[in-house]
Amino acid sequence: MKKNLKKIAIVAMVAVVIAACKKKQETLTAEPQETVKNADKVLQHIKNLGFPESSIVDNGNEYIVEEDIVFPKNMEIMASSAGPKTEQYYTGSIVNSTKKLNIRVFVDASMTSMSSEINNALAQWNGVSGSTLRFNVVTAAPYDILIKDENLGNGVCGQGQFPSGGSAGALIKINKSYIAGNSFAQRARTICHEFGHCISFRHTNWAAQGESTATNVPGVTGTDASSLMNGGQCGSGATVLSQKDKDATAVLY
Ligand SMILES: [Zn+2]
Repeated sequence: MKKNLKKIAIVAMVAVVIAACKKKQETLTAEPQETVKNADKVLQHIKNLGFPESSIVDNGNEYIVEEDIVFPKNMEIMASSAGPKTEQYYTGSIVNSTKKLNIRVFVDASMTSMSSEINNALAQWNGVSGSTLRFNVVTAAPYDILIKDENLGNGVCGQGQFPSGGSAGALIKINKSYIAGNSFAQRARTICHEFGHCISFRHTNWAAQGESTATNVPGVTGTDASSLMNGGQCGSGATVLSQKDKDATAVLY
């Protein structure tokens, strides 16, 4: 219902602007201007999370930081995410207490060949004792996270998104052909790692990786060589959540 109202509002707005443009004999449509405006908000949101401008890569309709975290330029930025946040390590913004109970995952047709790896990854997060966060695979809309195959070039195994406005990061891209040669456990690790970003985990080894300062999960601090959320370890990293990964999950969820 809300969506319909929003659509109607957008259509009405566009109609007004197009009408205005016609009067002024302008050729620009409303949409690009709106996109640019929201992209600025997204850029500020990324900086507010503590990522320095130099670490932000403009990739067309999205920004990428630390190689595997994507911020779509059209993402919704909630007012609550404003303000500087530079302090296991997370973004400071998590999936809310209702949505965490049932995070719906839709597996795109391009990724169904790795359903077993996806199920392994989800079972790891769902199995953390003391956490009520649950991922569930759904076969139709509505869903919270779409996981799909995308050619991300050499060196990048996958990309995830951080939560926004209380919802889990909405998209995971897996470089399927690139990780196809890895073991089952390593393929599942890549997928498990990206789901970790979608529920707000940063790279545990952010400091060693030269990444921006991350927020400590209260009570779960320090480096952790066995963390599945260590970055830059595709094909060679931990394949199961470490005790500290689990502790951090239980604290947040
Ligand atoms: Zn990562």
